[in-house]
Amino acid sequence: MPDERVEAAMERIRASGGRATVDRRAVLEALVRNQDHATAEELAELVRAEHPDCNLATVYRTLELLERLGIAFHVHLGHGPSQWHLAEAVHHHLVCDECGAVVEVGDAVFDPLRRRILADTGFVLDPHHFSLSGRCARCTAASSSPSSKRKG
Ligand SMILES: [Zn+2]
Ligand SMILES: [Zn+2]
Ligand SMILES: [Zn+2]
Repeated sequence: MPDERVEAAMERIRASGGRATVDRRAVLEALVRNQDHATAEELAELVRAEHPDCNLATVYRTLELLERLGIAFHVHLGHGPSQWHLAEAVHHHLVCDECGAVVEVGDAVFDPLRRRILADTGFVLDPHHFSLSGRCARCTAASSSPSSKRKG
């Protein structure tokens, strides 16, 4: 079944003068189907399940094209390889330094920070490219449980 997000994105590729190739469509479908974050390698694996001749370089080039067109974006979660997303749901990532858990927060969380930084420095903050690090609720609770040491 054709996904309307895939169709809309293919239309944008065509409108930008790009060719709507089978491989490009396959990368888009992998992004849509995957929902969660995926590295280029993971996406290439998904694509190759149906298009065995699609190579990693094609996947990378397609992702770069999708990013230029504002259809997808990548984010660096901790020290790992960059992860790819569809651009329709911009959100931000908090990564736990201890267990690697990723917590997603909405864009509005950064509004006060964005306004303050803009007012003070003229800098336009774009916080989605990198994740913020810290400690997740579970690790915080574990480290403050009676068996280790009490908080406060
Ligand atoms: Zn995300
Ligand atoms: Zn980057
Ligand atoms: Zn954690």
